[in-house]
Amino acid sequence: MRHETPFDDDKLHEECGVFGVFGHPDAAALTALGLHALQHRGQEAAGIVSQDGKQFMSERRLGLVGDNFSREDVIRRLAGERAIGHTRYSTTGDTILRNVQPLFADLAEGGFAVAHNGNLTNAQALRHELVKRGSIFQSTSDTETIVHLIATSGFGRLTDRMIHALKQVEGAYSLVALTPDAMIGVRDPLGVRPLSLGKLENAWILASETCALDIIGADFVRDLDPGEMVVIRETGVETLRPFPAQSHRFCIFEYVYFARPDSYMEGSSVYEARKRIGMELARESHADADIVIPVPDSGTPAAIGYASEAGIPFELGIIRNHYVGRTFIEPTDNIRHLGVKLKHNANRALLEGKRVILVDDSIVRGTTSVKIVNMVREAGATEVHMRIASPPTTHSCFYGVDTPERSKLLASRMSVADMAKHIGVDSLAFISIDGLYRAMREPGRNSQQPQYCDACFTGDYPTTLTDHEDEATGNQLSLLTESV
Ligand code: SF4
Repeated sequence: MRHETPFDDDKLHEECGVFGVFGHPDAAALTALGLHALQHRGQEAAGIVSQDGKQFMSERRLGLVGDNFSREDVIRRLAGERAIGHTRYSTTGDTILRNVQPLFADLAEGGFAVAHNGNLTNAQALRHELVKRGSIFQSTSDTETIVHLIATSGFGRLTDRMIHALKQVEGAYSLVALTPDAMIGVRDPLGVRPLSLGKLENAWILASETCALDIIGADFVRDLDPGEMVVIRETGVETLRPFPAQSHRFCIFEYVYFARPDSYMEGSSVYEARKRIGMELARESHADADIVIPVPDSGTPAAIGYASEAGIPFELGIIRNHYVGRTFIEPTDNIRHLGVKLKHNANRALLEGKRVILVDDSIVRGTTSVKIVNMVREAGATEVHMRIASPPTTHSCFYGVDTPERSKLLASRMSVADMAKHIGVDSLAFISIDGLYRAMREPGRNSQQPQYCDACFTGDYPTTLTDHEDEATGNQLSLLTESV
């Protein structure tokens, strides 16, 4: 069952973050810091598995990284110079301790731990086959399918068995794994999810985002290529490219919302990309107004870009309370409606009598937008023009981002004009899909061979969706209907 709070009910939930250290005496402590920097990618649970050359040690906890891995006794139990970690928002499998990663299994060659960012689209079908052949699953996580495929593969070395397993899965994965003698990092052939390689003194680091390298003072070496596997041993780093080459489809929504703005992804600063999206949005959908304000924090860089391009002052018209987290009291129904006010408050002194351009990154269900717009109007704004730094979110993500089912996405049910009425704004505009690509320094979207995954805006899924055929059929049909 998915857990919702009133604070994040209209945001797409981030997926997961992975991190790994090979060859440092403080491997577990560094991993805890790396996971802390990746906390925005998943707040439900976290885990670390370490290895000291002889044995594996594992700590997996529900809750935030800082609440669980800042204690000395916990870190001391995670001995060794190698460690991998995972911070999780459950996209597949319930949030129960046995689903918390890294998953660990004893294979014929010894221990194997794995942490996964992404989501497989044929895990259920594969699981069904594996169970029929006698596999006994311990969790409901799609990642365990990979572990069983490795365990039952007839191929020789562990890396070969891992490759054989990964050739059977579909969907998105960036994996960090620990074996008795190596740390392995691998990205799926489309490169949907990020994974970077870093160096700290003589240690090698793997991280979902470069902000996690920064927190431990590691140097960024490079992003792993889509379809690349790196095997890090004491003898050095071996690079394998075991999958047939495919065109790359990195998740464009990492730039819009998921990644931290201080990260670099695929060579681009996320912050700069968001500013360019805001500038493009201003060029596409100008409105006469007195101030540009963001829905903080995720709308802020795009609002800065919008304001600079439009020549309208940028102001902080909504103040965010940073101390409201998911660990806040479980709300009762009678205070649930206060949710948005717990997190945001309008800056009345600024908004009174003003025509406002309100910039946000996306509209999912629309519930938060309704409340925010109402709050801005109550604070005295005379006009509210909403500008969204992504195209309408019309389709669900099956690659590791927790989107609601399609029928709950506002843009799948309403036209832009109807959404404007529903949200209560004077005007509403989204960046176009080509505008988003231009902000990514592409000439536009290549419809024959899109340069990114943009399926949540277009319904053009880059893989088969074996486990989601009904939804996929519905999505494609509706895409046809929409484009007619
Ligand atoms: Fe990213 Fe959307 Fe593709 Fe999911 S469907 S991977 S959120 S672009």
